[in-house]
Formats: sequence, structure tokens, C-alpha cells
Amino acid sequence: AFTPRIVVPQVTGQPPVPLVTGGEIAYANLDHAASTPCLEAVRRAVDEFLPWYASVHRGAGFASRVSTKVYDRTRDVLRRFTSARDDDLVIFTRNTTDALNLLARALPRDTSVVLFDTEHHAALLPWRGPNVIRVPAPRTRAAAVSVVDSALAACPEGPRLVVVTGASNVTGELLPVAEIAAVARRHGARVALDAAQLAPHRPISLRELDVDFVALSGHKLYAPFGAGALVGRADWLSEARPYLAGGGATKAVRVSDEAAGGLEVEWNPGPERHEAGSPNTVGVHALGVACARLAANWDAVIAHEDALLDRLGRGLRTVPGLAELRLFDGEAARVGTVAFVVDGFDPGLLAAVLSAEYGIGVRDGAFCAHVAARRLISVAGGEGIRALRVSLGLGTTEEHVDRLVTALRRIVTEGAHWAYTTSDGRWEP
Ligand code: PMP
Repeated sequence: AFTPRIVVPQVTGQPPVPLVTGGEIAYANLDHAASTPCLEAVRRAVDEFLPWYASVHRGAGFASRVSTKVYDRTRDVLRRFTSARDDDLVIFTRNTTDALNLLARALPRDTSVVLFDTEHHAALLPWRGPNVIRVPAPRTRAAAVSVVDSALAACPEGPRLVVVTGASNVTGELLPVAEIAAVARRHGARVALDAAQLAPHRPISLRELDVDFVALSGHKLYAPFGAGALVGRADWLSEARPYLAGGGATKAVRVSDEAAGGLEVEWNPGPERHEAGSPNTVGVHALGVACARLAANWDAVIAHEDALLDRLGRGLRTVPGLAELRLFDGEAARVGTVAFVVDGFDPGLLAAVLSAEYGIGVRDGAFCAHVAARRLISVAGGEGIRALRVSLGLGTTEEHVDRLVTALRRIVTEGAHWAYTTSDGRWEP
């Protein structure tokens, strides 16, 4: 069995305010959807690699050759991790936001882009122009497929792209990606998958899903910050203007018109075209090791998270006044991310109490998905744009989940704690 070994911040000892729970706390990170802790295997690999990083594709020295090998080999890791087609490119980026912005700049002229308005801002905002069609996300998965169908039918002639997330960063629900891709194909459209939230939890197959591009972030799948990837169709990517202009992206540069200061630039094809500048070799290595570890352990990863999600769901149902946010009516397949509002309690205040008094890290706010947050909170019977989000991962234990549920029940049923109440026991956010 796979026992994920996580680099756990050792926050133990007395918290800054007296504990309701009493005694010592160990930090419970229930914010995996924002960023995940680092796998021990990743830390080891980075430690081993640190003495060796050097310029990639540029140096003749031994360290440069080691670095180049590690960097290029990681493209193959990502290729396998996403079941990429033989001719797909793997472009290293900083993160998903960077990858989707790169793709947005690489679209052929007059590409129509169809997407749900509930997407994360990283997927919602990079597309510009009159041909961007943002459709309100419907309340069932079947309707989600059919509104994409209708939107594509109404697109003008020319290239088309559907952008869809694999799993919602607000609700954890899975989107019907394969079904949307099938519809897109019928309209001659391509599909880009925002896999920031799916990649840490489920295998992704470009081939099986029949999608054209996938974007992901290392820091959400158990590597540190700084590296992500865009994987997908070579034709659009190789024909596009380079994402960044600079060294590494060029094959040849010469003066074309000395008097006018003109330059003739021949850009590289392939991933290098969009990777100008010295790359983040250490980050890329960390990303690759994390992907490889996940890929070798999917059954255990999914079993671990499903059991905890089930426990969390059962626990949250016992918290009075708690209403969960959902994209879709009814039960839908999901990863371990749950957002909710609690009647009468400010999410920011709840998050602060959970942190200060129970050592639990959660996220409150609108999760960089303002349209989704506002709408889903209103459907859940709440108000405003802020909710609380709990997200599980390999760093989560049953004790973390139980602690959260106990904490919420206590805060809600006992109404108050000294630090946050007025003298007559009212909550005062
Ligand atoms: N898409 C989704 C669904 C996300 O959850 C996130 C991160 N919250 C992003 C894109 C952006 O990822 P990053 O911040 O790593 O660029």
C-alpha cells in the first residue's frame, strides 16, 4: 500500500490563543485545493538535484548536461501523466494560469471560445475579443453538455475552442469533460482542459477524454511552487507567436536592415518556442517527480481521498445550518473539495476561529471564481460572495476531518467563544 509521506509543517505547541480543544495542536491543512504540501519523494529528488542544476540546452559542462537531461526527461513524464498523443507538445509554464494565458495567445485568429461563466478566473479571463461566448453554467451535467452544443452551433465559421475545468475548485464536482469533448468534435471544435483541480486527484488522459490541451500546476499536485505545464496540439502552438521573446526561443537572429535597425528572427518550433529565458529546472524536476509518484499510486490516492470525503460529507451533514455549494443538482462525482456557508456565521470569522483555535487551515472567500461563488451561494440559500472551502488531499487524516467537524459543530451549536463574542454571547464578526 502506498503511504503518502508528506512534508508536514511541524506547527505544534501552544497556539497564539487558548485552545478550545485544550492541549497541543498539530496543524491540519484542509486547503489542498489552494496548494498541496510537498511529497517526501519530491523533497528528496530536489535535494539531490540542487547541486547539479545549471543552464539547460546551452552549456557543455557536465552539470548542464545533467540539467538538460532532467528537464527533457520530464517532458516525457508529463506526456505519460497526461496520456498525450505522440505529436503533442509539452510546454513548461509557471502554473495553470500561465499555461492558459499562453494558450490564449496561441489561438489562431478569430478563434471562437466557448466556456462556462463559473470557471476559475485563470480559465475565465485570458480569452479576449468578440468571439468569446461565456455561457451560464446550467444545473445538470446533461444540460451542461447541451448548452455547449448550442453555443458551438451558434459560433461563426472558423476555429473554435471549448475551455472547461476538470473539477470545480469551489465544489470539487467533476465536469462532463469527455461528453463535452464529443460534442465539440461534432462541431469541429477543440477542447482545453483546466486540470488544476483534477490532476492531483484523478488520472488524466488526453487520448481517452479526447481533449486537445491540458493545463496544470505543480503546486497543486504535491510539488512546490513555480512549475506547471501546457500539453497539447503542436500545430496551433508551433504556429503561434512565441509567448515570450528571448533566448532559447530562437533558432537564428540576424540584422536584416542595418540602417533601420531591423532584425530577422527565426523562432524555434516545438516547446522551446514558448519557453524563452532560463527555465525553472528545479521546479520542473519537482513537478515531474510528483506526477510520477501520483501516476504510480492512483488507486491508493483515490481510495484515501474517497474515504475521507465520505467521512467529511457525513460529518458536515450534522452541522446545523450548513448548506453546501453545488454546481449541479443531485449527487455528482467529485474530488475532495467542499464549499459551504453556515447560516448566521461569517465565513471569514469561521475560518479565523478554525485556524486560531483548532489549528485548521481552510479557505474563505470567493476562490478566484466570483461568478461561481455568487451564484452557488445564492442557490444554497446564502448571501453575498464569500463561503468557506475545505479541501482534502494526501496530507489529510481522519483526525483532521473529525477535528473540523467537531470544531464546526461546537462553534455553531455553542454559539460562541470568548475571543469572538460580545458579553451577551452574540457573535461579532
Ligand atoms: N484553475 C483552477 C480550477 C484552479 O483551482 C486554479 C488555482 N486555484 C487555477 C486554475 C490557477 O492555478 P495557478 O494559481 O496555479 O495558476
